[in-house]
Amino acid sequence: MTVQQEAPGGEALEVWIDQDLCTGDGICAQYAPEVFELDIDGLAYVKGADDELLQAPGATTPVPLPLLTDVVDSAKECPGECIHVRRVSDKVEVYGPDAE
Ligand code: SF4
Repeated sequence: MTVQQEAPGGEALEVWIDQDLCTGDGICAQYAPEVFELDIDGLAYVKGADDELLQAPGATTPVPLPLLTDVVDSAKECPGECIHVRRVSDKVEVYGPDAE
């Protein structure tokens, strides 16, 4: 069973990567290797509950609360500006290039 973690505000968050813009530098995988990993194609993907890479376009994974800072830092530092963190409830982006 996947346990949905909640961010400080009580909102569960999820993250996805737009591989079309990924430069493959691996910053996200350094910051949060539990959430992000580079595949042999040189692009980063989010990981599912069993550590498998989720390769469907727009695939999301929950952001574990203990890793929220690492995931947010990844989104801020991502040179491709392609890491999107959004609320699960209404799909509004809270960190990333489309956040307000
Ligand atoms: S930090 Fe951004 S551009 Fe770099 S590998 Fe991760 S998703 Fe791709």
